Amino acid sequence: MELDVSTALSQPGQEFPFSGTQAIADQEIYGTIVKIDDCEVSGTFMADDSGNINVKGQLRTTAHAPCANCLKEASAVVENDFVEDFQRNGDPEDDEIFAYEGHTVSMSKLVMSYAVMALPIRFLCREDCPGLTYKDPDAAPVETGKQYPFAGLRQLLDQMEEV
Ligand SMILES: [Zn+2]
Repeated sequence: MELDVSTALSQPGQEFPFSGTQAIADQEIYGTIVKIDDCEVSGTFMADDSGNINVKGQLRTTAHAPCANCLKEASAVVENDFVEDFQRNGDPEDDEIFAYEGHTVSMSKLVMSYAVMALPIRFLCREDCPGLTYKDPDAAPVETGKQYPFAGLRQLLDQMEEV
């Protein structure tokens, strides 16, 4: 998604509305692949007297990833607001700033950053997902109060205390 800012540059201080969609590549986050639908983006942009472009607006999309509990497909609505300045002829390799050249502001880096920032930490297929329920059929039933895993160690400690 690109903004043509030629008119804005000739009218500094004047706000111009924009809207569109931005595709976002799949993201690998902590080893999980998160797929993000095309992002709906809208807002306004405005040039200042030195030719920098202030862009503000909001984005909305849906992200898809395996449920953190049961691995079924889960999805989450992703929304975020942004306000950023694009520096005219700034270094495009500098990760700390947004930059543009000529009359075209590319929105891809901004939209991707703000969408990834708003991703949920855990995806759940539903709020009360019980997760994987695995029971070992051969496991002996544990009777509370009668049996505990460190019984042998406890016995040994008791013996040592008696010495
Ligand atoms: Zn689940």
